[in-house]
Amino acid sequence: MVTAAPGEELSPALALVNTRRLTAGGPVDDLVSPGEATSWLRQHDLAATVPGEDELSRLTDLRTAVRELLAALANGRAPDTAAVDKVNRAARADAAAPQLTWRDGPSREWHSTRQGTIDAAVAALARDAINVVSGDLAPLVRPCEAHGCIRYFLREHARRRWCSTTCGDRVRAARHQRLVVEQRETSL
Ligand SMILES: [Zn+2]
Repeated sequence: MVTAAPGEELSPALALVNTRRLTAGGPVDDLVSPGEATSWLRQHDLAATVPGEDELSRLTDLRTAVRELLAALANGRAPDTAAVDKVNRAARADAAAPQLTWRDGPSREWHSTRQGTIDAAVAALARDAINVVSGDLAPLVRPCEAHGCIRYFLREHARRRWCSTTCGDRVRAARHQRLVVEQRETSL
């Protein structure tokens, strides 16, 4: 089990993007089959079953589009308009309404009209992506700077540059290696 990148607990859309990653053993995809996608959705409180390849590609297409939004944000450029369209279309798959609950205080939850369907799951992920890129979290979206890592994270403190301690350690080890080589070269 891979460690979640900082911010994935706040944003399922960010977690969705990070379901595709590179590891020392090669590329990994947590959404490689409908079954795996179903368990990923459950782990992210999106109780929906992914019945087949068509529904799976709705999720993976959304993932590609959200990645483009995050990349645009991190690079200070406008995203591909097709990606914006795709996320907007996904958000319209379910007519969710805000519902007010008042226990210890007021809080807002989005209630789906199609609870438990793939439409509801796709729309919830798209809605979250829209909230992230247009809200307070937007300036915190960063790509991991470790070579060979393609994950994104939310930078909760200014000095963080990688998505995990694994990536940080790898960068430090590579830097150390370079230093050793340089020292060896200068002593020759
Ligand atoms: Zn990383």
